[in-house]
Amino acid sequence: MNDLIAELVRPEIRALRAYHVPEAAGLIKLDAMENPYVWPEALKSDWLDALRAVEINRYPDPQGQALQAALREAMDIPDDMGLLLGNGSDEIIQMLAMTVAQPGRKILSLEPGFVMYRMIGLFAGMEHVGVPLATDDFSIDLPAVLEAIEREQPALIYLAYPNNPTGNRFDADDMVRIIEAAPGLVIVDEAYSPFTDASFLGLIGDWPNLLVMRTVSKMGLAGLRLGYLVGPPAWIEQIDKVRLPYNVNVLTQVSATFALRHKAVLDEQTHAIRVERGHLFEALHRIPGIHAYPSEANFILIRMADGTADAIFAGLKERGILIKNLNGAHPQLKDCLRVTVGLPEENAAFIAALTALVSAGG
Ligand code: PMP
Repeated sequence: MNDLIAELVRPEIRALRAYHVPEAAGLIKLDAMENPYVWPEALKSDWLDALRAVEINRYPDPQGQALQAALREAMDIPDDMGLLLGNGSDEIIQMLAMTVAQPGRKILSLEPGFVMYRMIGLFAGMEHVGVPLATDDFSIDLPAVLEAIEREQPALIYLAYPNNPTGNRFDADDMVRIIEAAPGLVIVDEAYSPFTDASFLGLIGDWPNLLVMRTVSKMGLAGLRLGYLVGPPAWIEQIDKVRLPYNVNVLTQVSATFALRHKAVLDEQTHAIRVERGHLFEALHRIPGIHAYPSEANFILIRMADGTADAIFAGLKERGILIKNLNGAHPQLKDCLRVTVGLPEENAAFIAALTALVSAGG
């Protein structure tokens, strides 16, 4: 059997490890950019009533029309723009790659950045070009990006706005220069839009190659797996052809439609996360010997003193707190950890544990 695997499975797939999510049972979970707030009980019972009406023996609406209408209204999606739904924005990244993939076609993104741009490119047989961000503040190195675009002629460019895992929001003028220089599509990935005031959504249509991708995951609905893509209808029509039938299941369609009708609840939660992000940042700032990077997202990147990140990550876990260890994930993330903004008491526990570990020298 191993011979057959070696013969059939592409070497680049054999070299991979399946996507791994660490066990978090019993831990304070600050590793995955989730919204820590649960739904109010009163809303939960209305939601369950809505689910009771679902006929689970039937396939869902293939287009998710009610959900599309709810999204358009709740998220101010321009009427003249196309909208496509995905099983998380991960699936939309995959659909985009499948739409344009051909031998030699390239995906360009900025690094350190979201790893799925590279991974999905690999699955689809596309080459990935990573252009490093500026080393001091993770801003766009515009000359380097423009030079890479000229040289590589990428079919797809991803710009996460704000960026994961660095948390900063890129300069909008730099983004426009990239959109204008790109020979292919530019996807502005606004996964973290609930935590920042800037967006390219209102600019769709200004450039024929601009698409905006979003997700409901970070606003408090990560369990539903729903992402969406907004762009010129002619592009959405093409990408829709590679979408699997019924990719958004009926439970997600009904639950997300319900949630978007009560978006004020989610907005309150994301507002609380933004306030708490400020407190967490200030508290991190007061810990000597570490550097917290300013964030427009629901997480903060922290650089620890030289060589201490692994021990501090392990020490936090021993104290019941799970964050993300990025040390070793990318050369520019040496000594870096990433913490998601949690409930006030969770953040306080994290700060107390981190302070103790840092003062003990890791
Ligand atoms: N884009 C970015 C920048 C992300 O950080 C993430 C999740 N970590 C995603 C997209 C994927 O989100 P989802 O598949 O949950 O919609």
